[in-house]
Amino acid sequence: MIPRESSLWRATAEPAPGLVPLEGAQEAEVAIVGAGYTGLATALALAERGVAVTVLEATEPGAGASGANGGQVIPGLRHLASDLVAAYGETLGRSLHAHGAGDADRLFALVARHGIACEATRSGYIQLADTPVALAEARRRHAAWAGLGAPVRWLDAEEARALTGAEGYLGGWMDARGGTVQPLSLARGLARAAIACGARLHAPARVTSIRPEGRDWRLATAAGSLRARRVLLATNAMSAGLWPGLAECSMAVWSFQTATAPLPADTPVLPGRQAVSDTRRVLRYWRRDAAGRLVVGGKGTLRAPHGPRSFAVPERMRARLYPALADAPPEFFWGGRVCISLDRLPRLFALAEGVFAVMQDNGKGVAWCTGQGTTLADLLAGADPRDLPLPPATPLRPIPLHPLRTLYAAAGSLWLRAQDALDRARPAA
Ligand SMILES: Cc1cc2nc3c(=O)[nH]c(=O)nc-3n(C[C@H](O)[C@H](O)[C@H](O)COP(=O)(O)OP(=O)(O)OC[C@H]3O[C@@H](n4cnc5c(N)ncnc54)[C@H](O)[C@@H]3O)c2cc1C
Repeated sequence: MIPRESSLWRATAEPAPGLVPLEGAQEAEVAIVGAGYTGLATALALAERGVAVTVLEATEPGAGASGANGGQVIPGLRHLASDLVAAYGETLGRSLHAHGAGDADRLFALVARHGIACEATRSGYIQLADTPVALAEARRRHAAWAGLGAPVRWLDAEEARALTGAEGYLGGWMDARGGTVQPLSLARGLARAAIACGARLHAPARVTSIRPEGRDWRLATAAGSLRARRVLLATNAMSAGLWPGLAECSMAVWSFQTATAPLPADTPVLPGRQAVSDTRRVLRYWRRDAAGRLVVGGKGTLRAPHGPRSFAVPERMRARLYPALADAPPEFFWGGRVCISLDRLPRLFALAEGVFAVMQDNGKGVAWCTGQGTTLADLLAGADPRDLPLPPATPLRPIPLHPLRTLYAAAGSLWLRAQDALDRARPAA
């Protein structure tokens, strides 16, 4: 087991808000389970409208992916507009895409409006390509955003190298809407803002059961219970045991990161402090933190990290990207579980009258999950989901043979890596 302090974000975050467990029998209009970006941004939006909302969190705000991620603010959903139209049809596909296009704006505006201290830096997001095939894909993405008037620009190999200092890339594109945050400070700041606006937040308060009570629902924790008319489950990759079948609708996959000591001021490594990832299917992502450390992330192992040796992959990545830093010892190493759907599309589940669950991670949720707070608040205030930029509300759709998920993940990872390797040998189409 890795000690908690080995996370850079835990070591450098703003203090956590003081919270207490749920005690006795309480009431709210809306109950939210899970204090990650999804639950907290939704609670904040509801509280701003004067709705009585209570968030129940098993551990502490940011205990899941929201406190462990790379802090890269990457605009939009993973899918291009054409993919979303193919998945959802013209109207919803376009509306979801347009909504995603504004998610980074919504995040930075929210941070500014509530004065959230989270090292928010709108330095841009860069996507790099290391093969002719990947370069063609990067061009497609750049062209799609440019066609919509987004503030993107193409980078040739020389410019990509000047901006990032990284070895081995043929080019890429930069999106001025993106940037970086200190992810755990963002989660803690959202929690403080929600409380300041009137939301109640209890932690530790793991929800152990959700049962109907008249027209309402009663959520039980070890020391108390909460009655609410409407419920949102925002438990992401940590949904096991909460609602039958929910955890079986996605796969939880580890992603690991390491951080060096602060680099010297004259280093050529990301002098402009953008967030970067590449187009590989098993992608690599990196950035600098406020103190100038280089943070590199990528594929984790299939199980929880169990010592510095678990972090061989991000360490190898750093050595390849920046050979001069190959021997820099990591100061911090940590991991988090990404919640993945098989088609990498977000999910909205209608579980029962007034009870919804969302899974919208897929490894790219800093901007999207935070920016969806107002939309999910509309849903919980009674709006018809078909009128909102949300995926269609469906019953649970468990992944077939879910108990074999570790095998799926292993096979899937090998398959994706093999395809990446093939791309490196293939000329562009
Ligand atoms: C290592 C890693 C790197 C990533 N990097 C990036 C990145 O750079 N950029 C980007 O855009 N996205 C990134 N992501 C994805 C992003 O972090 C997620 O999309 C986002 O944080 C999901 O937020 P969430 O609120 O939906 O879920 P989470 O943050 O996972 O929150 C779920 C919460 O539910 C709580 N919970 C679970 N069960 C219960 C229960 N029974 N009762 C009460 N509470 C419960 C958990 O304790 C947890 O706090 C990354 C993810 C990981 C894991």
